[in-house]
Amino acid sequence: MTDLTRMWAEQQDVDDELAVFGSRVYRPDPDLLYLDGNSLGMLPIATRDRLRRLVDEEWGRDLVRGWQHWESLPVDVGDRIGSLIGAAPGQVIACDSVSVNLYKLAVAALEAQPGRKVLVTDSGNFPSDRYVLQGAAERRKGQLRLVPTDPFAGINPDSVSTYLADDVAMVAFSHVDYRSAAINDVVTLTEQAHQAGALVLWDLAHSIGSVPIDLDSIGVDFAVGCTYKYLNAGPGSPAFLYVRRDLQERLANPIQGWWSAADPFDMDAPYTPANGIGRWQTGSPPILGLVAADEGAALLAEAGMVRLRAKSMRLTEYLIMLSDSWLVPLGFGVASTREPELRGGHVVLAHDEAYRISRVAAAAGVVGDARPPNLLRLAPAPLTTSFTDVWEAMVRLRDLVASGAHLTVPAERDRVT
Ligand SMILES: *Cc1c(COP(=O)(O)O)cnc(C)c1O
Repeated sequence: MTDLTRMWAEQQDVDDELAVFGSRVYRPDPDLLYLDGNSLGMLPIATRDRLRRLVDEEWGRDLVRGWQHWESLPVDVGDRIGSLIGAAPGQVIACDSVSVNLYKLAVAALEAQPGRKVLVTDSGNFPSDRYVLQGAAERRKGQLRLVPTDPFAGINPDSVSTYLADDVAMVAFSHVDYRSAAINDVVTLTEQAHQAGALVLWDLAHSIGSVPIDLDSIGVDFAVGCTYKYLNAGPGSPAFLYVRRDLQERLANPIQGWWSAADPFDMDAPYTPANGIGRWQTGSPPILGLVAADEGAALLAEAGMVRLRAKSMRLTEYLIMLSDSWLVPLGFGVASTREPELRGGHVVLAHDEAYRISRVAAAAGVVGDARPPNLLRLAPAPLTTSFTDVWEAMVRLRDLVASGAHLTVPAERDRVT
């Protein structure tokens, strides 16, 4: 039986097969309780060491000759990422940002189906997804249709069907809601869009490395996601995109950069797109970020997605149990779903003073993040968070709020939250 003692948490860590991974990330501040791995994952020691070698021995010494072995990294790292999301080799490439990848795929989907001018997403989707899709549709004289969604409940397939007609080129949703962690029903929603003749894109930003998915077996057309969250690849690391194999050559990348060409170094040739997933790159790949993504993906593969997901469900359940006992009496509510199978890797709590609480908590070594209007997001990333970390973080939060310490923080927001 779960109980509220530190001893219970320590025992879970003793029994945890994944606990060893906690010591494989850089921890310059042993007192820090980091619950924001879904915004920027921690730095694996292997990644730091490999980046040092890359800087000294490859960039510094090999200089331009390094491209001989760097050139294939976007595809190689893509394959490694693909193995975490159920994609057979040759369908994932690591490149650009999620926003740019979304744009390329949305425009490609619109152009390939001239009779279909509409893109569909839900009102709760991440801002960049809504903005990019809207811009892509309007520039092509189409429109973005928003399915009204309660982000805490997730997307209701019944409410989507009325938005699907024979004018829809592509439907794009997030697998895991960035605010509430609600897991959307990928199988049903994909099937529904396909029945309407539309292509389907899934944004895996908050699921890769956290919630398993099998893109190939579900029959998803496109996916995008980033590597700096649960993949721990660091600030500015590249995103990835998935294009199902049989679609790769039927569609055109609207940004015809040289790296999307059949032979980037045949500089006199007119543009001929590469065959295969390479067609979806644009310009020079970011090698430092790619190498970090490679290490991050290797670490997750070693831990195993099934084990990570099992631990993640237990950590978030534990966090909710402690919230019910200690934080709800202080004015918090649990805003994420209480069904572990329907909840991704983080938990969102509601409190009128969420922003000030997140600031005062960060100053006390508990780093989560606030999301407007009143949400506190806490992500116990299963690779790097122990049960004792969750216990200690919740004790600190409880004591801070009980003492009113947050009321001394100015209420104006910082630009980056
Ligand atoms: C983090 C996140 C992004 C990030 O997009 P970038 O363009 O890579 O900065 C996009 N979509 C979702 C759902 C996210 O959570």
